[in-house]
Amino acid sequence: MEYINIYHGVRMCGIIGYTGKKNARSIIIPALKRLEYRGYDSAGIAVINDEIQLYKMKGELEHLERILPKLEGNIGIGHTRWATHGQPIKKNAHPFLDCKKKTALVHNGIIENYMELKEELMKEGHVFTSETDTEVLVHLIEKYYKGNLEDAVRKALKDVQGSYAIVVIHLGNKKEIVAARNESPLILGVGDDENFVASDIPAILEHTDKVIYMMNREIATLTEDNIKITTLDGKEITREWERVDWSLEDAEKGGYEHFMLKEIFEQPSAIHRTLLGRILDMDETNFLKIHFDSIKIIACGTSYHAGLIGKYLFERIAKVPTTAEMSSEYRHSSPSFENPLVILISQSGETADTLGAAREAKHRGYRTIAVTNVVGSSITREVDEVIYTRAGPEIGVAATKSFITQLVALYIIAINLGLAKKTLTYDNAKHIKEGLRSLPRYAQSVLDNADMIKEVAKNICHAKDIFFIGRNIGFPTALEGALKLKEISYIHAEGYPAGELKHGPLALLTKETPVIAIAVKDHTYQKMLSNIGEVAARGSPTIAVGYESDEDLRKYVDSVIYVPTIENLFAPIPISIALQLLAYYVAKERNCPIDKPRNLAKSVTVE
Ligand code: GLU
Repeated sequence: MEYINIYHGVRMCGIIGYTGKKNARSIIIPALKRLEYRGYDSAGIAVINDEIQLYKMKGELEHLERILPKLEGNIGIGHTRWATHGQPIKKNAHPFLDCKKKTALVHNGIIENYMELKEELMKEGHVFTSETDTEVLVHLIEKYYKGNLEDAVRKALKDVQGSYAIVVIHLGNKKEIVAARNESPLILGVGDDENFVASDIPAILEHTDKVIYMMNREIATLTEDNIKITTLDGKEITREWERVDWSLEDAEKGGYEHFMLKEIFEQPSAIHRTLLGRILDMDETNFLKIHFDSIKIIACGTSYHAGLIGKYLFERIAKVPTTAEMSSEYRHSSPSFENPLVILISQSGETADTLGAAREAKHRGYRTIAVTNVVGSSITREVDEVIYTRAGPEIGVAATKSFITQLVALYIIAINLGLAKKTLTYDNAKHIKEGLRSLPRYAQSVLDNADMIKEVAKNICHAKDIFFIGRNIGFPTALEGALKLKEISYIHAEGYPAGELKHGPLALLTKETPVIAIAVKDHTYQKMLSNIGEVAARGSPTIAVGYESDEDLRKYVDSVIYVPTIENLFAPIPISIALQLLAYYVAKERNCPIDKPRNLAKSVTVE
């Protein structure tokens, strides 16, 4: 399982490179197909013959295949794109060529400082053909190329900030591929008289099971009979290949048993991606300067819970009155005297009710912003502004990394809002930004404690009903914990504000009804302890979710799920991750079809 520890990147797209004796096209296209499970919006291929032959197409791989002629050539690269910068259209598909059409490059990741680089390169005379962040890379390499591609790539990467897995070929050496990675996954496949580079194992598994894992800030130079790995600074690395003994299906899940678990474990890097380029410069949210008197967040399901947490954030940080509404309710509500800024949240950007709500909000004359994971999705055409969560494709039906990255996007909006409304001083904003920056680390430490959560899951997996209670920002966190559990384990679960227990649900509590209480040390902590007492008095098994520094908590409950002690404002992040794991392990104990719960679909495109 070592593989998992070093390899939980968010796989946003598929990359493949081949050098050997076979026809490169016949290797690249099937390899891209193997990466299809990630979902993507466009695809492309470049093969070297006398010159670089380049083909790209919007949409599914089939569209590319349809226009693709027979290509001669034994070296080439391919890409399936999951857009982050620039619409999912043909001109933004990878590979990209330099001005002289001698270099071709594919990229997975985000180049944070691409704006400055692009400006400089344009001044120097480079001509850009796309709206992507990626294209700066190929022009930088062109600029530094003096006969040695590896050197040029090394120099180019020194100028670049952000995440990347890149694969590059150049007409100057028709046998050689140069690849590099930082924060985006990349592996090398070792064959006989042929070598491969890919973003994921399934792409190459039919040709070889010998794999070398590339690490951050490393460059690999491949020919058909040699692989050389160096650090960005030029230090040579020796690393043996490892044999992968997985089935293709295992490989697609990165060795995890379910996509949901894989996606839970991808959250530290997903958070990192959402934050990339957004902490220092927040241009994207300049629109917040427009006039509005309140905020309305509209969404369904898990996204609605993100919206409810957003309400607490906006009110706390920016003092703007905020409501969260379900899309299906908002669409048919009556307009009232208000002038809200409307934020619509949808992972897929295709949720029918949220699209309907976006149209209704526009019809009422409100300013609209979408928070979505899919570039170019329908909702992006309905709204005034878009903030992308960049969580990468999510395959498990139960939303995990999409939810956490939606929260991160809402924190970013809240900080901007606070600055714009002057409810946040510059120092406070800086402090919150530092908190945001450390979120991947906190998320990781929850994951490192997964075994403890597994034990708790074993104790509650036979329950028929489970209550989740919270107060303040912990209340919507409880709602999401309950939703996760019910959708994949089929246990009836309800989230409740702890203060509401005595207005109804207490009647349902018995010795067989576990209660999970979110009990972080905020201003509601004492009240929560009393609620726990109330519950315990009815004989219900009690489980608290609290900070690891809170040793005393275990005195009040039967068991505790400890999460890292974090500023209260950020508590929903580690707690939600812990509750995702809890839901996962309970469902696993009950042998449920975790990635595809009965009656549920990933993206609800019907009303
Ligand atoms: N940021 C690049 C783009 O938008 C790469 C996206 C990807 O990883 O597929 O084109």
